[in-house]
Amino acid sequence: MSLNSSTFLNQESHQKLKRNFECLKNSQQQTTSSLQDNPLQNLQLASWEVLEKAQKSGRSKCPRCGSSRMFYCYSCYVPVETVPTKEIPVVKLPLKIDIIKHPNETDGKSTAVHAKLLAPEDVTIYTYPCIPDYEEKRHEIALIFPGSNSISVKDIILHLEKNVEKNVSCGNDDDSSAEPFLKKAKIETKEDRNLSEYKSNSRSEDTVLKKVIFIDSTWNQTNKIITDERLQGLLQIELKTRKTCFWRHQKGKPDTYLSTIEAIYYFLVDYHQEVLKESYKGQYDNLLFFFSFMYTLIKNAKNSAGKE
Ligand SMILES: [Zn+2]
Repeated sequence: MSLNSSTFLNQESHQKLKRNFECLKNSQQQTTSSLQDNPLQNLQLASWEVLEKAQKSGRSKCPRCGSSRMFYCYSCYVPVETVPTKEIPVVKLPLKIDIIKHPNETDGKSTAVHAKLLAPEDVTIYTYPCIPDYEEKRHEIALIFPGSNSISVKDIILHLEKNVEKNVSCGNDDDSSAEPFLKKAKIETKEDRNLSEYKSNSRSEDTVLKKVIFIDSTWNQTNKIITDERLQGLLQIELKTRKTCFWRHQKGKPDTYLSTIEAIYYFLVDYHQEVLKESYKGQYDNLLFFFSFMYTLIKNAKNSAGKE
């Protein structure tokens, strides 16, 4: 299907984005082609009005450390004075997220802080090597990392069910103890096929994740963190291939190397549909509230400079 502008114009979210574009652009420079080039255009986002105002007034003070920043303070993880917290959206996540940041990673370049700003209740940022010991909760935590043993998001349930099965078998000499879990797995698969929108009542607490860990660093630094003994033995999950929209895309890396906030967003969209078995209606789109605004600003600036 070709992505023509009339298709999008029928959609409410597009209308909202179009309005935002109109505010951002000075004159009649707006063209439908710039909209078509934007892969973030169908997101259901809160109004960018607060960010547009803040951008016009320039840098503002961080309420915690007093530093001069644009939109938010990347050291304190809070919005600046011209961006009132109550005017930025809050996103509720289905699980907790820990982000492990490499100390050498330039704070201002990281998008990890977006997650903390937009989902403050569910996101914690740690600076390596100060990270929690995940030992006891290992069975309900996963690490997002494309390693040789990593599994896809859609295989999470299967993996966790196997774990439950194994634990029961270990605690009980009776070999038949694993049988009910196998039967349950079969039933769930059938239900899922027949009713994709059906929220499974039989979904057990044991077959959902409580926490996922993301690593926020350059590729070379990631390899150092990933070998830390506290992160060994965790389930590793690999994301589907998607192209990044990040304007600070790492030189020499493929465009499928996502920024942290993109990785978090795409993981949650897949998790929602493939593990929670619920239909996705934009619940996590606002995680890209800052990202898509900044992406649009930079894209527009490039367009006006005639670089594209
Ligand atoms: Zn600050």
